[in-house]
Amino acid sequence: MTTPILKVTGLTMDFGGIRALDSVDLDVRQGEIAALIGPNGAGKTTFFNCVTGIYIPTAGEVMLTPAGSNKSKNLKGLKPNQVTQRGLARTFQNIRLFSRMTVLENVMIGRHCRTKAFILGAILRNRATRREERKILEYSYALLEKVGLANQADEFAENLSYGAQRRLEIARALATEPLLLLLDEPAAGMNPQETKELDELIKKISREGQAILLIEHDMKLVMSLSDRIFVMDYGKMIAKGNPAEIRTNPDVIKAYLGE
Ligand code: ATP
Repeated sequence: MTTPILKVTGLTMDFGGIRALDSVDLDVRQGEIAALIGPNGAGKTTFFNCVTGIYIPTAGEVMLTPAGSNKSKNLKGLKPNQVTQRGLARTFQNIRLFSRMTVLENVMIGRHCRTKAFILGAILRNRATRREERKILEYSYALLEKVGLANQADEFAENLSYGAQRRLEIARALATEPLLLLLDEPAAGMNPQETKELDELIKKISREGQAILLIEHDMKLVMSLSDRIFVMDYGKMIAKGNPAEIRTNPDVIKAYLGE
C-alpha cells in the first residue's frame, strides 16, 4: 500500500478550555476525493486551519508525501505560505479573492509560490516580454479554461457571479500546483445549477489526478463526489468509510439527528 498524500495523526487543538480537536486521525490517498463532514461546530474548519498553518496545533502530526515518494514533509509549525509552498492549497468558507484585480491576475497571484517575484511583478505591470513570463500567462489562461472562466479573464473578480467566484478560488488554489487541494465548503451559498457545475468541475479535476479533501454540508454533493468520508462530532473523529457505509452508520445518524 502506498503512503497517503496527507497523513494526520493525533491532531489536537485547544482554545483555552475548549478542546476543538481531540486526537484526530485522517489520511487522504493519491487520486482520491475525501470529504470531512460533521454537524456545525464539530471542528472541521479548525482541522483545516491546523493543517494549513493558520493555527499551531496543541499536539499531533501533519505529514505530506508526494505521490510515489517516501520523502514525507512535516507541515506542523509551518506558516501558511510555507505550507502552500510544500504542496497544500486551500479555499475558504468565505470567498477571499482580490476583488479589484482581474480574474486572470487572481490566478497569476496563485503562481507566486512557483514563480520568481520579479517576473510576477513585471507581468502584473504589463511589462511581460520574456518567454518565462508568457509561460505563466498561458498556464493561468489554461486554468481559467479548465474552470470555465477564460472568457471573463479581464473582468474584475468582484463582477463575477457567486458561483464563478468560487470557481476562480479553485483555479487560484490549483495555480500553486498542489499535491492536495483542500476545499472548505465549496458549495456554500450556491444555487442548484452552480452546485451541479461545481460537482462536474471537482470530478474533472480529480480525473486529472488531483487529490482533494473537502468540507461540505451538502450531503447530496458529498455522496456524489467522495471515495471516502470522515465524520467528526464534538472535535472527535466518529466514523470513516465509503458513502454507503457512512449513510447507514448509527453513530453518524445519531450525530446528525440526535438520539
Ligand atoms: P461549521 O460547520 O459551522 O463551519 P466546524 O465543524 O467547521 O463548524 P469549527 O469552526 O472548527 O467547526 O469550530 C469547532 C469548535 O471550536 C467550536 O466550538 C468553535 O466555537 C471553536 N472555535 C473555533 N475557532 C475558535 C477560536 N479561534 N477561538 C475559540 N474557539 C474556537
